[in-house]
Amino acid sequence: MILRASYGTIQKVNGKSSLEMDTAYFMLGERCVYNCLYCAQSRSSTSPSHFLSRVIWKEIPEDLLDELNDCFKRICIQVVSYAGYREDLRSIIPRFRIPVSVSVRAISVEEVTEYFKLGADRVDIAVDVPNETLFEKIRGGKYERHLHILEKAAEMFPGKITTHVIVGLGESDKDIVDFTVWAKERNIVVSLFAFTPIRGTAFENRERPSLERYRKIQLVTYLLEKNLMKPENIIFDSNGKIIDVEWSDEFPEEALKTRGCPHCTRPYYNESPRGPIYNVHWR
Ligand code: SF4
Repeated sequence: MILRASYGTIQKVNGKSSLEMDTAYFMLGERCVYNCLYCAQSRSSTSPSHFLSRVIWKEIPEDLLDELNDCFKRICIQVVSYAGYREDLRSIIPRFRIPVSVSVRAISVEEVTEYFKLGADRVDIAVDVPNETLFEKIRGGKYERHLHILEKAAEMFPGKITTHVIVGLGESDKDIVDFTVWAKERNIVVSLFAFTPIRGTAFENRERPSLERYRKIQLVTYLLEKNLMKPENIIFDSNGKIIDVEWSDEFPEEALKTRGCPHCTRPYYNESPRGPIYNVHWR
């Protein structure tokens, strides 16, 4: 089993970080069987195997896991889909005494059920690309099937399912808004990420989304999630780009912050400390 912790997690455990970070982040495995074109761990990527997004992950001994229960409020395990990952999760999940989020490309509802039985608090099934054509081109596999698993898992484990959306993979603003509404109706938490080009991936030369666009998406998704706005209050152009929102109050600061499972802050996951900061991790 190859288990890595994010650099920030290790610094925190060693008392060398003052970042507000209540979640410890782990990556289980390396080199995925899937080939998501933006991902450092994908089958065809030539990125070093200790990368996921722009974060460096360091291999850790398994006995470090027991120390973490006192340092953090949540554990997040990012699972790379390699042969045998389910077996390894069976041995890791029960070791924690604090809530565990398992982020995994689950292939069935039975798989999701197993993680909850093992003691997981939440399961994240990342959609990443909320557009059928682009999903199938960029991630591979059937979009409809992916949404079906997400939907069924949310029905069986109400309020316990998270998904990820990456802004900047060719989708329109409307794709993200429509998906947010779909997820909210099913009580699925949507966590936003900004696309980050990683050397060695097929998308290494693509641009990040503009900060202006990202702020717009943060605002509308936040307002929709909090029932402060209806989809009808968002005005799109013919390409699905948001051109206006019927919202006259100030920009709510909360909308800028990292959203997702409770206590998830993901410091500098998408951004360099030099900025621009997409998801604000400090409280
Ligand atoms: S929202 Fe945060 S804690 Fe939850 S699965 Fe995603 S990265 Fe992990």
